Amino acid sequence: MEHDIVIIGGGAGGLELAARLGRRFGPREGRRRVLLIDHSIFHLWKPSLHEVAAGSLDSHQEGLSYPVLARRNHFSFAFGDLTGLDPTNKTLTLGEIRDQDDAVLVRPRTVKFRTLVLAIGSGSNLFGTPGAAEHAHLLEDVADAEAFNKRLTAAFLATAYSDGQTMNIAIVGAGATGVELSTELIEGHDELSAGLTEGQKFDLAVTLVEAAPRILGGLPERVSAKAAHALEEKGVRLLTDAKVKAVHAGRLDTSRGEVPADLIVWAAGVKAAETNRDLGLTTGRLNQFVVDDHLRTSAPDIYAMGDCAEAPGPEGRPVPARAQAAAQQAAYLAKALAMARSDPSREPGPYVYHDKGSLVSLGGDRGVGSLMGNLGGPNFLIEGLIAKWAYMALHLDHHRAILGVRRTAILALSRLLHRRVSGRLKLH
Ligand SMILES: Cc1cc2nc3c(=O)[nH]c(=O)nc-3n(C[C@H](O)[C@H](O)[C@H](O)COP(=O)(O)OP(=O)(O)OC[C@H]3O[C@@H](n4cnc5c(N)ncnc54)[C@H](O)[C@@H]3O)c2cc1C
Repeated sequence: MEHDIVIIGGGAGGLELAARLGRRFGPREGRRRVLLIDHSIFHLWKPSLHEVAAGSLDSHQEGLSYPVLARRNHFSFAFGDLTGLDPTNKTLTLGEIRDQDDAVLVRPRTVKFRTLVLAIGSGSNLFGTPGAAEHAHLLEDVADAEAFNKRLTAAFLATAYSDGQTMNIAIVGAGATGVELSTELIEGHDELSAGLTEGQKFDLAVTLVEAAPRILGGLPERVSAKAAHALEEKGVRLLTDAKVKAVHAGRLDTSRGEVPADLIVWAAGVKAAETNRDLGLTTGRLNQFVVDDHLRTSAPDIYAMGDCAEAPGPEGRPVPARAQAAAQQAAYLAKALAMARSDPSREPGPYVYHDKGSLVSLGGDRGVGSLMGNLGGPNFLIEGLIAKWAYMALHLDHHRAILGVRRTAILALSRLLHRRVSGRLKLH
């Protein structure tokens, strides 16, 4: 069966693209024309993964079913894992999918397309560090976040029922993920401790290890300094200028000495899948598909967007791997692909990345970040509750694009109420 537009990957970018195109084409046309394929059956916005890891977000409650989203936004959905691509014959191969008991859920199959959009995201970059793959937890998908949470829960319980020990967690990489995870862990532990008996209480030591001289290196220095101060106030140990040389069970070896660690999270660097190199398209140093300023790959009618694409960005650097870039590219491609169908003689203008700023949650009612644009100059610092609200608005914006305003409001309210009733950290 041939589909007009096939999108692989229903993440921050691909899902918004499918929803925008489906709604643009309408109930009958949309379902026939647009097919979204993902190897997961439900969607969870990736920037929320640190909350799943810390146990403050329930992935089963937060996750949205692709078939339901497809029905509401007028596109089709197929469960499938991209394993091969023939750009000349415009055919892709979806590999076998098995369940946890190794039973075959879906057999391999092929799909033909007229236009293909690759939106399969990326993973972490271990920079070849010895022991990292074996001993560190990654936060690349829901399964990773849940696996870490299971270990965290077990370690919390074991420490609480031992004799007054300290539990050590080391997080490698002080970007937004590392910073936000450390605050979630500290706050969850504080809340949990308040309910333990004196004999069960234990200390939690979180060390954030960063190779660069400061945390949040991609953000302005003022933001980085504010965040560093807030983290230190919370008791997070910041180890900057520290290159991780090796990861072992129970410790990190860094250029600034050993860091004890019962649990290790690797939240540094971005690198796309090695298998991207086997798909017959030009790829870059980080295995991303190299695209031009119209997001076109090296093969005709095949586009790439979001974290899996190396797109030309400002000052000669590639567009950063961020949710706001994926959302902007989804809006751009929705327009460009719809225009190509309604008036093939018109050529869309190039895609230009607009950095709208960055926000980091520091737990509770606190956030910090910088907004770019007209608000008080090119780089406007916000902090406290306003920054926290702006941070939440980003999340809500993604849900508004796929659920609409009313359903997003209901979801936000139910999440707030759920957290009020059940607390941040769940030990189950
Ligand atoms: C913990 C964490 C916190 C973050 N916080 C922020 C933040 O605060 N702000 C920000 O801007 N960015 C943040 N990011 C980065 C942001 O999440 C990504 O830039 C964004 O999700 C990229 O969107 P995407 O659509 O390219 O890929 P993704 O959102 O990763 O989606 C990729 C999709 O492709 C599917 N897929 C992958 N491989 C296959 C395959 N072979 N076959 C079928 N389907 C496949 C996956 O299941 C997934 O649904 C964070 C990332 C993490 C991990």
